[in-house]
Parts: sequence; C-alpha cells; structure tokens
Amino acid sequence: MFKVRLFGTSSQGLPILSYCFGQKGPVVLILGGVHGDEPEGNYIALGLLKKWIQHFPYQLQMTLIPCFNIEGSLIAQRKNQNKVDLNRNLPTKNWTSEFTKERYQPGKTACSEPENKALVKWIQENSVKLILSLHSWNPMINTNGNCLPEAEIMRKMTGYKLSDYIGYPTPGSLGDYCGQERDIPVITYEAQKDSSIQEALTKHVPAIEKALFSSQKRV
Ligand SMILES: [Zn+2]
Repeated sequence: MFKVRLFGTSSQGLPILSYCFGQKGPVVLILGGVHGDEPEGNYIALGLLKKWIQHFPYQLQMTLIPCFNIEGSLIAQRKNQNKVDLNRNLPTKNWTSEFTKERYQPGKTACSEPENKALVKWIQENSVKLILSLHSWNPMINTNGNCLPEAEIMRKMTGYKLSDYIGYPTPGSLGDYCGQERDIPVITYEAQKDSSIQEALTKHVPAIEKALFSSQKRV
C-alpha cells in the first residue's frame, strides 16, 4: 500500500505530488525533476514508482517525488516558472544572490520559491536519513555527507564515477543545505544526459533499488 500526498505547490500553484511507501525504518526522500530539462531523473523516479506500486520491498519510510519542479518539467526548462534554479535557492549559509550564469539564477532571496519552502518544511518535520536527487549531465554519483554504502553499490552497478565534489561551488543546493550543513547525506545522481527511458529502467532503477537495501541499516 502507498499514499499519495500533496507535498507542496509550485510558484504558480500547481500540485507537487509525493508517493509514500513503508511504515517503519529510516526515512528516505527521492526527488526527480529538480531541473526541468533533465527528464532522465523523471524516468528513473517513475521507474521506481512503477516497481513499488506493485511491491515495496524495504523496511524504509520512503517519500518519492517524481516531479519536484513541476513547472520546469512541463516546459522542459531547467528553472521554475519564476526562472529560478531550485537547486541554487535553498537557504544555505553560503547562499548569494550573485550568479555566474543565467541558468544558475538563485532567486531574489534564499528560499523565495514555494517548491523549496515545502522542501525545507518537510526536512524540518521529518528525521530524514538519506536524500537521493535524480539529475542528468555527465555521468556521476555525487556524494554530500556519509552515503558511501549506497553510492558504492550504484557505482558498481552503473560504472559511473564517484565524486564528493561536482567540480564547482553550488551555493543554495540541496547537497550543501543537507549534506554539508545538516548532516543529512545527499546523493546527487547524474545520469547520462539524453539517455533513454529504457536505460533508466534497465540500468538506473536496478542500481538504486539494490543500493536502498543498505539504507535500511541507517540510524
Ligand atoms: Zn540537474
């Protein structure tokens, strides 16, 4: 059994839905579609949903959000309708209104966007033990905080490289907000850009499914 919940709303009031599985065990959050032009993350999240609707095999309390940036995803745009990069808008200590490229527009103030207000509220109210954020770019398993058990399984099953630094500063990102500042480990899973739904279902879904078994041991 699972529950569908209204996790929050977008800048224009569109619903952001979450799918909740499991009643006991560590709390885990999976986000797809943080960047609306990275559909591979949506494919993977929906592939996990497809499996778990039939059978959820873990002792975990899972919240799965297939499409966090619902507006960006609908129009294949990285940012939300307010033209803010949601992964640069979280209220980290190093948040700044300055940005190097238009694609990284962080918003007028930290946590200005309703999508992130909902996310921050949820993180404050839930004792989350692991966050997995699904993106696409150059293939990489990017870790923030202690998530090596899961990341190592993902690395083995995908051949992707592991890295604890994505290569440039990311103020306002989920990795910084949770992994660096709150001791909540975050895996930013970068699937190969422009890869297929088939690859998501046959490569990434199994890798993540296997890795999540080790999350059951988190305390
Ligand atoms: Zn991304």
